[in-house]
Amino acid sequence: MSVREARPQFWQVLKRSCQIAGSVDVGFFFIFHLLGSPILAWVNVVSVAMYAVAYRAIGRKQNGLAIWLIWLEVIIHAGLGTVLIGWDSGFHYYVLMFIPAVFVSMRLREAVVALVGLWSYYVALYIWMWSTEPLQPIAPDALLGVYLFNLSVVFAMFGYLSFFYLNIVTEASRKLRRIATTDSLTGLLNRRHMTHLLERELARFRRQGHPVSFLLFDIDYFKEINYEHGHETGDRVLEDVAAIIKDQLRTQDLIARWGGEEFLVVLPDSELQSARAIAERVREALMAREWQGSNGQPIAVTTSAGVSAFSRDDDRNSAISRADRALYRGKELGRNRVELET
Ligand code: GH3
Ligand code: MG
Ligand code: MG
Repeated sequence: MSVREARPQFWQVLKRSCQIAGSVDVGFFFIFHLLGSPILAWVNVVSVAMYAVAYRAIGRKQNGLAIWLIWLEVIIHAGLGTVLIGWDSGFHYYVLMFIPAVFVSMRLREAVVALVGLWSYYVALYIWMWSTEPLQPIAPDALLGVYLFNLSVVFAMFGYLSFFYLNIVTEASRKLRRIATTDSLTGLLNRRHMTHLLERELARFRRQGHPVSFLLFDIDYFKEINYEHGHETGDRVLEDVAAIIKDQLRTQDLIARWGGEEFLVVLPDSELQSARAIAERVREALMAREWQGSNGQPIAVTTSAGVSAFSRDDDRNSAISRADRALYRGKELGRNRVELET
């Protein structure tokens, strides 16, 4: 998920931001009345109204309207606050909050234009305040209070936004990793990821010498299942077979969809004989199940399996080839069998 695909969450964050900003502005209304800055006080009333309308607009999916209202509010409010009580009020910091936000809510080209616009506005405001006095200055203590308050709000908002962006990135990489490592139909490991894990198992076997066994399953006459009951039923059978094999395994065992209707199981710390017993259990579980097509007609689903184990001078492929040979022998001997090759 890219940041831009995360727009639904962005609108949620924006809605929450409207609530926070609106509440802050209600507080400002009273504060600026007390500080004797009535214009700024009434600006906050307008601001609260704009945030309320923006909030409702997001709720009604009028996102464009909401964005414009929020832009307008922040730009005008930051400008007025600065011009009326001075640069040291810290109102200009709110403009900076748009820097990350533009990249989430706009396309790159628009975002760059908006960024240049923001920069120009910020610089122009600074230069203007450099050369003129505030129109409605307040007492120095009050100015310090307003500054610290604005600074704190901006810190909190940046923290909140950064946390939001971090979540998007984390979620996106988690999703990508899942897509890259699993088979979408069965949810098992895909061949590529299993190959990678096999290397790890082989390295561990060489280091520690603990036995590692393999089961290679291939559904019998699967082409016929597809042909007689349809591809969708075939897919459903694949999902169910995957689940049935998985049911017979321990948590440390690995299972992958190795090919179309082939499944490879890696059993760390398992001798050949216990691996064979697991394959037998799977074979029997498939037989015990009453398989039905979409119209309720029975389907014969069985599997053949080849069993092998790592030996001293194996590489990744040689052990799997032995399981493959055993499987092939099982097919030749009539299918629905477990064969072993040491
Ligand atoms: P055998 O007993 O010798 O294994 O016979 P078989 O018919 O199973 O032969 P084979 O293994 O060559 O056939 C595999 C078939 O699996 C071919 C292909 O159409 C089907 N298949 C592969 N992937 C999928 C899939 O994702 N969904 C479905 N429905 N069928 C698939
Ligand atoms: Mg096959
Ligand atoms: Mg097959």
